[in-house]
Parts: sequence; structure tokens; C-alpha cells
Amino acid sequence: MQVRRGVRLAELTTLAVGGPIERLVEVSSAEELVAAVREADEAGAPLLLLGGGSNVVAPDEGWPGDVVLVRSQGIERDGDRLTVQAGHDWDDLVAFAVENRLAGVEALSGIPGSTGATPIQNVGAYGQEVAQTITAVRVYDRAEKTERVLAPAECGFAYRDSRLKRDPARFVVLEVTFGLRAGAGSMPITYAELARTLGVEIGEPAPLADVRDAVLRLRRGKGMVWDAADPDSRSAGSFFTNPILPADATVEGCPSWPAGEGRVKLSAAWLVQHAGFGRGTRDGRVGTSSKHSLALTTEDGATTAELLAFAGRVVATVEEKFGVALEREPTAVQP
Ligand SMILES: Cc1cc2nc3c(=O)[nH]c(=O)nc-3n(C[C@H](O)[C@H](O)[C@H](O)COP(=O)(O)OP(=O)(O)OC[C@H]3O[C@@H](n4cnc5c(N)ncnc54)[C@H](O)[C@@H]3O)c2cc1C
Repeated sequence: MQVRRGVRLAELTTLAVGGPIERLVEVSSAEELVAAVREADEAGAPLLLLGGGSNVVAPDEGWPGDVVLVRSQGIERDGDRLTVQAGHDWDDLVAFAVENRLAGVEALSGIPGSTGATPIQNVGAYGQEVAQTITAVRVYDRAEKTERVLAPAECGFAYRDSRLKRDPARFVVLEVTFGLRAGAGSMPITYAELARTLGVEIGEPAPLADVRDAVLRLRRGKGMVWDAADPDSRSAGSFFTNPILPADATVEGCPSWPAGEGRVKLSAAWLVQHAGFGRGTRDGRVGTSSKHSLALTTEDGATTAELLAFAGRVVATVEEKFGVALEREPTAVQP
């Protein structure tokens, strides 16, 4: 366990905003993670868990307590099951699965951050989400002060959401188990843009490595692979979720997809763009990415206040123009 002082949240988050941390505790195993959380809870210190910092909007005031940086590593294989430590880099796990001919997470290539954070918002992209393959999540339950294993049904997974996200002060993810499918072919491709890129029909599989390559290519073109050299990736990925509404609430011209019984999912990117915030709309040191209207990006010296004010203007304009309330995807963490 390594303790540092004087580090800024901006140094640990992909949006590169956020003030000084009172005490930064870096842990490299599940045991150290539990010990660090227990210590903070016993001391009554505000606690923030951080993996890759790619889905948080961090406060300008900084963190007046403990930030626990989760850096536990390791993948354990048992047949087609992989049990992965929370701090393990997500894309490294996807690469491992593809190299070892295990299907189920290939369309989630190139998503930044840690494996332990993937169940929090049920990470998803290009037709896959982790809820499809997670078989168990080992957690430390801060309310019960004990370790336990959550079955998928107990995780309350939904679109970019879970029980863990809804109750952020309770569960610390220690490791995640994925049940994958052995073979060289991917799961059936369900996302039209990916199927087109691969030259397959919707519902057909493709070679695992081809799917990974195609997804990485598509994502890079949208600034959706984190890269210090790409200012368009200085973001938290999509800043807003696609709104899910009653099926009769469609907006003319806006792409939409069925979202279960009597519900429809609208394209947040379209709504943002048609509200006047197309790609590359800047307001001082914040704005939309030049490659994707749904990603908000920052420049050197930007503040969280500026970012949230810009996001607020986007939400208000979309509401005014289309009567649709956008919701933020990353968590604006507060002590
Ligand atoms: C360029 C870019 C592209 C992206 N594309 C996608 C995408 O396609 N799909 C998608 O779903 N997301 C995407 N994201 C968002 C983000 O990468 C994912 O949500 C990722 O899972 C976050 O992982 P992290 O380790 O960085 O989490 P962090 O940002 O460190 O944390 C996120 C939240 O989880 C909590 N948390 C972290 N670790 C733990 C733990 N061990 N136990 C309990 N709580 C924990 C934190 O306290 C925080 O509330 C993108 C982000 C960027 C920057």
C-alpha cells in the first residue's frame, strides 16, 4: 500500500479536471483494497474509489479524505471462465480473451479503465454489455462490513446502470468473473455499423480478432480510445446516455431503437448535435469533441465548473428544443 499527498484528481482522470487529494492510497491487491476501505470508514474519512478515472467528473475543490487507487492485477482462467482483479486494465483483459479464443467481450475492445468498474455502469458498446457475460462479482459490502459474492441478478444491471452505481457508498468491487464462450468466432454481431465494417449480416459471427480490430478502428475514428496524443479523447466517453422513452415519444428525424416493451431509445448524439452542439463546438476551454458530439472534452486549465456549466447548457437546449431530458453518464463524484 502506497500513500501519497499533494496529488490532484486532474492527474488521475481522463477529463483531467479536479483539485488536490488529501490522501491518495494506492492498493495492489484485493486484501489491500479491503484494508484501505476499512481504514477510511473507521476514520470517518470521505472515500473515493478510483480505477482509470475515465468515468468520473471530479470536483474542483479536490477530495478532503481518502482516494483509493485500485491497481490490483491478475486474470485467473478456469476453462471458459475468467476471474479478474478489479484494478486490471479492461482492454488488456479483452485482448487476453481474444488471444485465447474466448468470445463475449470482443465488441468492448478499446474501452478505457479498470475491470472492477465495468459492472458499475454495465459498460457497453457496439452491441455488447458486460451484463451478458458477468457470472459473479466479489465485493466488500461497506454496510455489512463483510466480503460477499453478488450473483448477476443481485447486481440489478440495466442500460449503463446497476445496483452498484445506484448505491455508490456500499459496494467495493474486488474481482469480477466472466463466463465466455470458447471458439475462434465472435458472438453474433448485432450492431449495424460494426456488421457493415466487417462485411457480415446482422446476427452473423466474425473472427474474434477481426471484431477487435474493427472496433478499435471505429473507436479511434471517434476519439473513443483514450490516447494522450488525441485531444478528442480527453473526455469521459459519452457524456450523456441515450434517453429511453415511451414508444410514442419519438422525435422526428432522430434515430431510435426498440428498448423493450413499449419503450424506445433515442440517439443522444443526434439530439445534442441538432440542438446546436455539433462536433467541435467550443466554449472557452470545454466543448464537444471534434470527432463525436456526445463526448465533452477539456483543454489545459479547464475546470469542472466550466464543464458542468457547458453540459447544463446542452441539457437545457435539448429539453427546450425536443422536450427530452438528457441524463449524464459519468458520475460527478462529491465527498
Ligand atoms: C475515451 C473514452 C471512451 C469510453 N467509451 C465507453 C464505452 O464505449 N462504453 C462505456 O460503457 N463506457 C465508456 N467510457 C467510460 C469508462 O471508460 C467506463 O465507464 C469504465 O468502465 C470506467 O472505468 P474506470 O476504471 O476508469 O472507472 P473510474 O472512472 O475510476 O470510476 C467510475 C466509477 O466507478 C467507481 N469505481 C471504480 N472502481 C471501483 C471498484 N473497484 N469498486 C467500486 N466502485 C468503483 C468510482 O468510484 C466511480 O464512481 C469511455 C471513457 C472514455 C474516456
